[in-house]
Amino acid sequence: MDLMNYEEIKRSCLSCQKCALATKRNKVVFSSGPAPCDIMLIGEGPGADEDEQGLPFVGRAGQLLTRIFESVGIERDKEIYITNIVKCRPPENRAPLKEETEDCYPYLEAQIEYVNPKILILTGSPACKVVLKNEMPMSKIRGNWTKLEGTDISVMPIFHPSYLLRNPSKEKGSPKWFTWQDMIEVKNALDCVRKVKALTQ
Ligand code: URA
Repeated sequence: MDLMNYEEIKRSCLSCQKCALATKRNKVVFSSGPAPCDIMLIGEGPGADEDEQGLPFVGRAGQLLTRIFESVGIERDKEIYITNIVKCRPPENRAPLKEETEDCYPYLEAQIEYVNPKILILTGSPACKVVLKNEMPMSKIRGNWTKLEGTDISVMPIFHPSYLLRNPSKEKGSPKWFTWQDMIEVKNALDCVRKVKALTQ
């Protein structure tokens, strides 16, 4: 996909009326970060702060996400393309409905194609259900690399930062501790991707 197609898809997303979420939104939250990009992250859906600002992960969960990336030496704004499985805020921050994720899926598909990431991070169970069609609990799938079907993209599922806000312990074996391990994995993989790129350029 070229830039023109991507911009056209983005424009149509910004005025999308496909599902009922469109009637209540303030802003469509399309993405943040550079594109194309080696790392892409997919979350669940905008909350109140994101809906107000039109940017993903800018509320409390997003600030935690920024700190998690910083702790492994990844600069969020410069190094990660971030989006969600739905681009409009579900009311009362409920999980997106199946119809809503299905209506929004073509936008996500186009984003993955244009961003062309080497590493895809999925935060939380709704993102794993939509992208991997994996219904297992996060405690079972987090931390395990898998490939996105039909592509060469390496996928790392991690706990959602909102879940980490509700489970703040950093003790060994806690969700936060596991997420730290998962991010170290991601950073190592990113370093490998960059080394290989440098060799082949
Ligand atoms: N939670 C998400 O999943 N996405 C956001 O953009 C913000 C909070």
